[in-house]
Amino acid sequence: MRTQIVAGNWKMNNDLAQTEALITDLKKQHQTSNAEVMIAPTFTNLWPAFEALRQSSIEVIAQNMHFAESGAYTGEVSASMLKSVGVATVILGHSERRAYFNETDELLAKKVNAALDNEMRVIFCFGEELSDRKSGNHEKVVESQIKNALFHLNASALKHIILAYEPVWAIGTGETASPEQAQDMHAFIRETIKNKYNDQVAQSISILYGGSVKPSNAKEIFSKPDVDGGLIGGAALNAKDFYEIVNAF
Ligand code: PGA
Repeated sequence: MRTQIVAGNWKMNNDLAQTEALITDLKKQHQTSNAEVMIAPTFTNLWPAFEALRQSSIEVIAQNMHFAESGAYTGEVSASMLKSVGVATVILGHSERRAYFNETDELLAKKVNAALDNEMRVIFCFGEELSDRKSGNHEKVVESQIKNALFHLNASALKHIILAYEPVWAIGTGETASPEQAQDMHAFIRETIKNKYNDQVAQSISILYGGSVKPSNAKEIFSKPDVDGGLIGGAALNAKDFYEIVNAF
């Protein structure tokens, strides 16, 4: 049985007061669920979110981090800084980081290493652009993103990685991959992991889907055998919508 996860990626939304208000709403909606529930507020709101959720099973995670431990990297935040405010899981490789901040697979490999060196879990994001899908290259692109950033890890390090397949054309566009498209890609990803490691490793890694997941489509997407949860953007900013998605498991 794989860990099922629903993680809310708040992106650059919610100031302190809005963060506290949304957490209050989330706590009202929260009940025992089949999925692990996570939220990723901005850096400035990680500590207040952690404090507000101390007694809760909702985990506070980060959206990004730098690979260096400390030093002359103005504007950046390290893994140990995240850990010091209670963060044990970090999202790396989101397509917005790749597109707007030039994050490459090579850079992401360094970030993955830094997170694992600090005993953190990583939600590693990847996914093809619309042009890749149109030209039939989507599997090749996804395979190379995974290979380049993760395949230097051994099987025991890979246990700390959660995969998140997010087709770029489906993020924030309202256009979701069909449940079949998601399942096909997730099965391909699991096969890719199996070929590099082994079947047991492939069967135990969680693969989340992200890209316009909402209350109306979550159940069908999550019902697919290789989909182990979701990384939720827009719909995570509303507690009721987010919990309808969590409860879709
Ligand atoms: P979306 O974002 O749900 O708003 O499409 C998903 C993501 O970027 O993780």
